[in-house]
Formats: sequence, C-alpha cells, structure tokens
Amino acid sequence: MVEIKNLTKKYGDKLAVDNISFSVPKGEILGFLGPNGAGKSTTMNILTGYLSCTSGEVKIDGYDILDNPIEAKKRIGYLPEHPPLYMDMTVSEYLDFVYELKGATEDKKEHLDKIMEAVKITDVKDRLISNLSKGYKQRVGLAQAMVGSPEVLILDEPTVGLDPKQIIEIRDVIKKLGKDHTVILSSHILQEVNAICERVIIINNGRLVASDTAENLGKSISNENKFQLRVAGDERTILDALENIAGIKYIKSLGRKETGSIDFIIEAEPNMDVRTPIFNALAQNSLPILAMQAMDLSLEDIFLEVTQNPAEIDAVYESVSEDEVEMVASVSDSAETETQDDEPEAKTEIAEDVKITEDMPAAECAETAAEEEETADSNIDDSAAEEKEEGDPS
Ligand code: ADP
Ligand code: MG
Repeated sequence: MVEIKNLTKKYGDKLAVDNISFSVPKGEILGFLGPNGAGKSTTMNILTGYLSCTSGEVKIDGYDILDNPIEAKKRIGYLPEHPPLYMDMTVSEYLDFVYELKGATEDKKEHLDKIMEAVKITDVKDRLISNLSKGYKQRVGLAQAMVGSPEVLILDEPTVGLDPKQIIEIRDVIKKLGKDHTVILSSHILQEVNAICERVIIINNGRLVASDTAENLGKSISNENKFQLRVAGDERTILDALENIAGIKYIKSLGRKETGSIDFIIEAEPNMDVRTPIFNALAQNSLPILAMQAMDLSLEDIFLEVTQNPAEIDAVYESVSEDEVEMVASVSDSAETETQDDEPEAKTEIAEDVKITEDMPAAECAETAAEEEETADSNIDDSAAEEKEEGDPS
C-alpha cells in the first residue's frame, strides 16, 4: 500500500533522512520508532507530499506522490505533529470545512457523524475547538485525517502532550482504526508501538536500523546471555569485584532500586555462563546477591542494542561521576514513591514523562529503560480505558 525507496532528505548540509526504504502492506499498523530528531516527521512529511525529498521515491497504492499527487493524496489522511486546527470554528464547522476542502464525495452528514462517533467527539461537536482539551483537539485532528475515507492514515506522534488517560484513549481509538486502515504511526515511546503496532521500524539519525515484527526483533538478539542482578553494597566496590571476570560483555548500572543495594544489567559473551564466577567474586567480597534474574529482551533493549553501541555505553558509564549516579538513584527513588498507589494513571504518567533522547547519559537511559519496563503493564492495559471512555472534554 505504501512503498518507500531510497528516500533521502537533506536540509542544506544536514542529512535528516538517509536512504530509507520500506513498504507497508494494506491493513498493517506500522510503528515508526526513533528518538527525537531521528527523522520521523521529515519522513512523514515526504510521505504525505508536504515536503519534497532530495532523492528517492514514494508510492501510495501504486501512485507516485510527486508524479500523481492528487491520486496519491486522496488515499492519505495525515495527522501532523501539530494538527492544523482552526480554533474559532466548532468541531462540526471545522470537519465540514475539511470535507469541502478535500472534495469528499461521501454523504456528508452520515460520513462526518460516523467519523465523530469513531473518535468519540460527537458530544463536543458544537463546541469551539479553542475550548477543547488537548486530548479532544487531538481527536479532532484524527477526525480531519479520516475525512474522505483515506485508506492510509499517517499519524505523527499522536499522543505527545496528552495526559495518561487521554493517551490510553487515543491509543484505543488508533487500534480500532487499524482494523480497516493502513496506519503508520510515529513515536519515541516503545510501549506505545508495542501496544499498538504489528510491525516496527526503528530509525536513528535518519537511518533505518531495524525493521521487523516486535516479536522477531526480540528473537534476533534473544540468544544473548543477559540478566539483571541486585547486589547489596556500594556501587564502586561491586564493580571492582566484578572487574576481572572473564566473559562479561558489559555491565550497566541501573542505580539504587532498593535501599542499600544497586541493580545492574549484565550481559555475557555468547556461550559463557558467568553467573557462578559472579557469585564467587561477590561472595569473596562479602557482597550479598539479593536477586539474579534472566531478562526477556523488551523492545527497549532492542532499541538500545540497535541505536547504541554497548562499548559506548561502557565509556559513558565510566565518565558518570559518583554524584551523578547518586542523582540518578534518587530520581529513581522519588519515581518509585510516586508509583506507590495503585492508580494506573499515575504510573502511566511517569512512563510517558521519561523520554529517551539521543544525548541522555547512558546511566539515565538505563534508568529509563528499567522504569518503562516496570510500568509497561499499566500502559498496555486497555481494560482501564474502557471504563473511562466518557472523559470530560474541557
Ligand atoms: P523527528 O520527527 O524524528 O523528531 P525530524 O524529522 O523532525 O525528527 O528531524 C530530523 C532532523 O532534521 C533533526 O536533526 C532536525 O533538527 C532536522 N530538521 C528538521 N526540520 C528541519 C528544517 N526545516 N530545517 C533544518 N533542519 C531540520
Ligand atoms: Mg517529529
């Protein structure tokens, strides 16, 4: 349905998209995952004909976006990063306007009513867009993308800036839209693509670094020997004790998760079992192991694997001072305190607040990874959303 070949975009000298090729079959929900500045919006702007590319080719249902823009664009509904809403129109007036603008041919009332029903904005249809909450504005943005029944929906970070409840609701709406649309959704949040998408493309610095089903991506690197370790004691002492063990590929500190102990992620070289030597080394130094657990690779790990070289992680880790480690640890502590109550919303909020950026220090990045994992369940849990469909629009 969507075919992209050797797409490259330069802004002056800056290479924003570097020779990307992929295709999206009809009916698929594709997650376009990458940190901020990876080139997601640029790619989407080119896909929708909003920007021209420096070189490469985009075809929508066989129509080239440059040679046949009208046919190609007819098939696309686009929700840009900043939805193009007119604040002084009511929701109905605005959708009416979009309908005319797109030259849609469906029965107008029936078509718009159906769309408003699908994204759940029927109850606010006579309200001024400027008076709606950000979550409802985003739904209106989704609605305008659906006008004219395009087969492909391109959604650029549709949940950015929304509160946790709105995020769950919008994700739910998108999942439903995925049943009869081809959807490309960009996000820098792993749980989001994990929760919504069937297939994931990961881009970093404009380059495609991975493309597969989330499941297969996990498998492709799951034979690596990775586990999480919690040891009571001082971080430096523990690292010194582990220093000379053969077969450890890298050690990543997650900071303090429990008073008086430090959590680590350890990866061993292939076919090396380092658990016994680790036990012996720590025992000799009177450093008790409180927990040792094999790690299922999450999309988070995959992301770190494909966008960061483990050697670099070590180097960055070495340059993190004790103070910074302390700071990261206390951030983690306060986050844990906040998640104490069982409010799914509170948990989600923390997960969403923590964002991976390219220049985030590795220790903090690892922290993020662990926290997102901890909160992943509440993110994916849609049952919580079912009860809350009728949010207050204002
Ligand atoms: P993402 O959506 O993944 O966050 P973008 O596609 O917005 O990334 O940006 C990719 C890169 O291109 C970034 O480094 C960004 O600074 C740069 N960039 C984006 N738009 C422009 C522009 N209009 N002019 C110059 N550089 C740009
Ligand atoms: Mg963007």
